[in-house]
Amino acid sequence: MISFLDLNAVNKRFQKEFTLTFQNIVNNGYFIHGEEVRSFEQELAEYIGCKHAIGVANGLDALRIILRAYIELGRLQKGDEVLVPANTYIASILAITENDLVPVLVEPDIKTYNLNSSKIKLTSKIKAILHVHLYGLVSWDTNFYKDVHSKDILVIEDCAQSIGANHNGIMSGNLGHAAGFSFYPGKNLGALGDAGAITTNDDALADTARAISNYGSRKKYINEVKGINSRLDEIQAAFLRIKLRKLDEDNKRRQEIARIYNENLMGTPLILSSVSESHVYHLYVIRTEKRDELKDFLQLEGVQTLIHYPIPPHKQSAYKEYNEFSFPITENIHDTVLSLPISPMHSDQDILFVCDAIKRFYQT
Ligand SMILES: *Cc1c(COP(=O)(O)O)cnc(C)c1O
Repeated sequence: MISFLDLNAVNKRFQKEFTLTFQNIVNNGYFIHGEEVRSFEQELAEYIGCKHAIGVANGLDALRIILRAYIELGRLQKGDEVLVPANTYIASILAITENDLVPVLVEPDIKTYNLNSSKIKLTSKIKAILHVHLYGLVSWDTNFYKDVHSKDILVIEDCAQSIGANHNGIMSGNLGHAAGFSFYPGKNLGALGDAGAITTNDDALADTARAISNYGSRKKYINEVKGINSRLDEIQAAFLRIKLRKLDEDNKRRQEIARIYNENLMGTPLILSSVSESHVYHLYVIRTEKRDELKDFLQLEGVQTLIHYPIPPHKQSAYKEYNEFSFPITENIHDTVLSLPISPMHSDQDILFVCDAIKRFYQT
């Protein structure tokens, strides 16, 4: 069986280092906001090339704390509109609605699955854009964002799937005003549990976000705002520091795998994933009208595939108020996408096996 992502193999590489660091932490008895978190925040900020990184409990929290901090700072007000792609993972939209902001769903570009700047109308009601680098692709329209900037609209990046991807040398997470990262185990940089981070160059935002994530407190037992508890813990930070050193190498391997898929599946009726140097292939996504048949066929052939995502947010019962909206491109994407196995641990042979199985599907 070719697994979609063998997390066991991904993490086994670090087992010795994990064990050592775990023992150290148990011995020194410091579990929250200690040296490991501080060091990870520094190393992540350096990696992204930005001024601040703030560890939080998960990726959704990173996004919702950013928005909440902008409300605390008076940059956003409840009821303001936030533009977001309709085909994103639901977390991006939950971060908006949880803050009583109004998501304005927009159709993505069918080629990149990311925001289609040529279709966006920037009205005076739109106060922020939540730009999602979906599947790991940074598709960044510099001219569009110049215009956004001149209109004083906030740009928040959802980098849950794009860590390590860059646009003309600028890392995702350093393109907008602030960014949220997820270190969910299956992400390109995955913890051994939940974890997330915020990055920004804005001192005030960093300060406020940090306070919100720690009970609204900058100083112990002094609570300035109604905060939450969303902290990164020492053990996860220590594991992430170890894995961060290997991230670029892992992302390169993902890019190689994408190249193997593209070369070998060219000529099949599949619509392949876009080729771009700004892509870290968190997911390698193809499209076909015969998606469900292909998925079942591959399962029988010993290839595990997944769908990201089967139901768009506006069709979920969580968002009943959007159920009647029509987003034909988004709905078509959800009906036709299939994610093929990809991880730094897959061998060339694994990927060629998948390609051969797909070719057999079209021969039968
Ligand atoms: C994973 C993910 C999130 C949420 O991250 P969690 O750590 O699971 O909370 C947000 N947005 C996108 C696009 C994601 O893929």
